[in-house]
Amino acid sequence: MDQITVEDITVTVIRKKVKRLTLRILPSSMVTITVPLNTGTDRIAQMIRSHLAWLRQGVAKRAAQPQRLFQNGETIPVWGEQVPIRFMNNSLRRCAKLAQGQVIIASPRLSEFKEREALIKDMYTYEMRQAVDRLWIPCQKTAGVQAKEYRLRFMRTRWGTCNTTLRRIWLNIDLAKYPEMCLRYVLLHELTHLLVKPHNTQFYAYLSRFMPDGYQAELLLKIKRQ
Ligand SMILES: [Zn+2]
Repeated sequence: MDQITVEDITVTVIRKKVKRLTLRILPSSMVTITVPLNTGTDRIAQMIRSHLAWLRQGVAKRAAQPQRLFQNGETIPVWGEQVPIRFMNNSLRRCAKLAQGQVIIASPRLSEFKEREALIKDMYTYEMRQAVDRLWIPCQKTAGVQAKEYRLRFMRTRWGTCNTTLRRIWLNIDLAKYPEMCLRYVLLHELTHLLVKPHNTQFYAYLSRFMPDGYQAELLLKIKRQ
């Protein structure tokens, strides 16, 4: 493994049996580039140079975020509140739940960061399922449409998507970190696509009728209208 520095950005080069060059910014703000085995230094430097603005922005953003370790007492956002995590070291059962204003995490393998992280993801997924189950029918009534089903997953760039052909709605599990109005807004947004496909004036006219204070959720989720 070697490193290449272009202006103020240092990148760790990982040579692999791959076809393309891929730049990544890790949560630790370390930058890596995966390249095909025989890629020349010039080609790698050129790729870094053409992405300098994006790399600087990404590195600065990650450096500004405190590194999460998921330690006892550390707080994490759940439905818009900062909730402390409590780890139960002596448990043989694996569990992650929100109870009495705490996130209770128990597992025999708690010393592993990956295990703590996985349990916290389980907790967010469970919270989302509970909340969407509650909002699913009322939101469809509000929008006057019927969807077939919803599915949950973690997404990097979107809060939700709607497959209008299958009438299936995908929701980003990270919504469980924001006030519930944000989830309701995204759900209504995706349901509105069953009435109007593009993000046009008619689409937003419907949406603001379904949720007049939806702009507050947009602000919280930093959604830009195109
Ligand atoms: Zn949309």
